[in-house]
Amino acid sequence: MNLLYELIKKLAVALICLLPTPATPQNQLAFSNYFRDSTLRIDYFHSGDAESERIMPDQIYLQVPWAGNPRKCIQPFELGMYKACLYDSASNHLIFSKEYNSIFAEYKTTGPALKGIQQTYHETVLIPYPKRTAMLVIEKRDRYYKLSEVYSTYINPEKKHLFRENLTTNDCTVIPVVNKGNPHTCVDLVILAEGYRASELDSFKKDLSYFSNLLFSVEPYKSNMLKFNVNGVFCPSAESGADEPQQGINRDTRMNTSFGIFGTDRYCLATDNKSVRDVAAAVPYDALLIMINHNRYGGGGIYNFQTVFTSASDWRDYVFLHEFGHGFAGLADEYFSSSVAYQDIYTPGVEPLEPNITALPDPLNVKWKQFLDPELTVPTDWNKTRYDSLQLQFSSLEKERIMVIDSLRMAGTADSELEKVANAFTKKLYDLYRERYDFFKNHPLKDKVGVYEGANYLSKGMYRPTLNSLMHRFDADSLKYGPVNEHAILNTIRYYTEE
Ligand SMILES: [Zn+2]
Repeated sequence: MNLLYELIKKLAVALICLLPTPATPQNQLAFSNYFRDSTLRIDYFHSGDAESERIMPDQIYLQVPWAGNPRKCIQPFELGMYKACLYDSASNHLIFSKEYNSIFAEYKTTGPALKGIQQTYHETVLIPYPKRTAMLVIEKRDRYYKLSEVYSTYINPEKKHLFRENLTTNDCTVIPVVNKGNPHTCVDLVILAEGYRASELDSFKKDLSYFSNLLFSVEPYKSNMLKFNVNGVFCPSAESGADEPQQGINRDTRMNTSFGIFGTDRYCLATDNKSVRDVAAAVPYDALLIMINHNRYGGGGIYNFQTVFTSASDWRDYVFLHEFGHGFAGLADEYFSSSVAYQDIYTPGVEPLEPNITALPDPLNVKWKQFLDPELTVPTDWNKTRYDSLQLQFSSLEKERIMVIDSLRMAGTADSELEKVANAFTKKLYDLYRERYDFFKNHPLKDKVGVYEGANYLSKGMYRPTLNSLMHRFDADSLKYGPVNEHAILNTIRYYTEE
């Protein structure tokens, strides 16, 4: 029962570019005319609040080679809240663009930022090394997704003294896991070890292989495995784990990852971006993942920025695949009933950029219409009232459990009595959990693509493509993204690999 109690306890918290000359995706250019096969890592500080923001340059580092697809220098889809654009100075042609999200982009939507409290985060954009002077422009999207410039600087490749070499990381080991070919035409993933001590190298290797096997057991990665390179980078930490501020725990780890980001206990990120990028520089990469040596439920995924997950929680499979869905393909959260710190994430009437959620501006022209089940209505009735009621009962009971146990403890109740009360709550919570699980498992619309209300932290007015998926809840009975998310991930794989 103690195990079950622990399980329920965990379950209860785990709901978890000014355009001188526009270029279109059709105008992809000859890479070798403009770039060397090297990477410039542009580091900068991003400061501000909900209303204002500023970018200040840090350092530029030279890394080799370029991991991106030379045939896709201009990103062919819109997805991030920020966009890095590179213009050839002589011709004013756009020669490179890539979109991304950032921790700062999330901070802007939280309570403190809305109150005008300023914060600074460190960020990086990776660009191919231009052969001639180029102008780097960083643009941000507003509430209506309109782009405007927030920073620009000239990059002069002749001034090599401005570019730093990467830090020496003599204590680090690169562990190749999957090597399918040229970084230019493969998706290059790097998985960084966080909170593993030197003596835990074997444990890191075991975890690396576990998550690599997991990734390639799930579609669409499974069918596209030959297009991936996966490397691990092990730089030992002084201590195991990560910071847990809400529990008063600080640990000395290589990249200073922490639970409790924006006050949400399960939300784990690496805010020390510089350390992350120093470690990641050991190999060329398109996407970076940070594996934390910890058994707690937690993680985070930010598009084209970082994917963080813990190695040993009971929900590690779900968390890894869910967070990588955010980090790699920019997928949105499809859940709506767990608490998050974002208060100002959506502007009514504006269709979100993410491919797996819609505000349904035109029911006759649904974002994922090619996947819609023709027999389903739009929007699709899914007995949401029943689900909402189960969810409400679950969260009320969880709150009640915390209050009752706390008051008994304060009244000096004996441990044996406390355990009896806790066990009674656990039983009720488990029953409700089972009911919710069965609701999805036995639902007549299970796996059918429709337009289901409730997504992206909004119970009303935002819709998702399937009842349950890896971007929705962790209590799905199988690890599936569903057709719409799979299609979006496939588009991302093609962006990195298509010749
Ligand atoms: Zn998520």
